[in-house]
Amino acid sequence: GGKLLEVKDLHVSFFTPAGEVKAVGGISYSVNYGEVMGIVGESGSGKSVEAYSVIGLLQSPGKVIGGSITFEGEDVLAFTKDQMTDFRGNKVAMIFQNPMTCLNPVYTVGNQLIEALKAHDKSISKEDAAKRAMEMLELVGINNVEKRMKQYPHEFSGGMRQRVMIAMGLICHPKLLIADEPTTALDVTIQAQILELMKDLQKKTHMGIIFITHNLGVVAEICDKVCVMYAGKMVEQGPVDDIFYNPSHPYTVGLLRSMPRVDAESHERLIPIEGTPVDMLNPPEGCPFAPRCEHAMKICLKKMPPYVEIGKDHRSACWLRVQDQLEREKTGTGEV
Ligand code: SF4
Ligand code: MG
Repeated sequence: GGKLLEVKDLHVSFFTPAGEVKAVGGISYSVNYGEVMGIVGESGSGKSVEAYSVIGLLQSPGKVIGGSITFEGEDVLAFTKDQMTDFRGNKVAMIFQNPMTCLNPVYTVGNQLIEALKAHDKSISKEDAAKRAMEMLELVGINNVEKRMKQYPHEFSGGMRQRVMIAMGLICHPKLLIADEPTTALDVTIQAQILELMKDLQKKTHMGIIFITHNLGVVAEICDKVCVMYAGKMVEQGPVDDIFYNPSHPYTVGLLRSMPRVDAESHERLIPIEGTPVDMLNPPEGCPFAPRCEHAMKICLKKMPPYVEIGKDHRSACWLRVQDQLEREKTGTGEV
């Protein structure tokens, strides 16, 4: 319940010597408290750029050139430097595929957790901070916390390091957690454990999560709703069940077909999506998926399709769906 984050028609470009790359071309979505939203797409689809923009971590030459980002009713793009520091330190946290982007190899894990807490709450005593740090490590499923506090990141296994990073991300109780492929580098069993852990923590804390991944299996596991991105555009968005059982966009259908099944007993062959991803310096004029789409029509090459409502909170940008809609209006059935 309640809107935590709202992104409206966000545009992000990278101004490179070779020209402007429209990395994100008009994305809109919202995340409520206690909700997990998945952003799915291939690498280069703009899914990380989109998320980094939300927390002001976009690196030069990237720039937000249009749209709005509202967090708890406040305009994030208008934040002063101090407001941004407070936002990043106290309200949002980010976790990554590689925990070493967050953990410093030369300090003990305990030290880093305590420092993170002290940066957040200057009046906290060292003892209280240490206590909170240990509680956090326990919460993410790490045993022997007293000993673990004194160890360095390299003394943890990959999965345990990921847990430490999650502890680090959550120790200041963010309202929004952005997770960028946090389980991609882990083996399947550990991946499942980490996802389970995140679901659990999410229920306890009621935070909102944006989960960025190229893996639809992970989405099915953890997300309430999904935003599918292709070449910087949002091509489909909807509740997770609609995306899986009633996909509307040919790209989403292709993604589902190419998805490795967790119950890999069936030796079904995966069907990769043919063709190469879009050259973002010279994107196609119309639908970005047109060069790879088996349904492409003339209009697809000329104009980006508008969003069509497929169902409740479910929309898709594809000319086929525009046709369906016109068809329905003509026959006057009105219903989907
Ligand atoms: Fe395919 Fe056209 Fe739909 Fe794009 S708009 S996905 S090219 S049918
Ligand atoms: Mg990425």
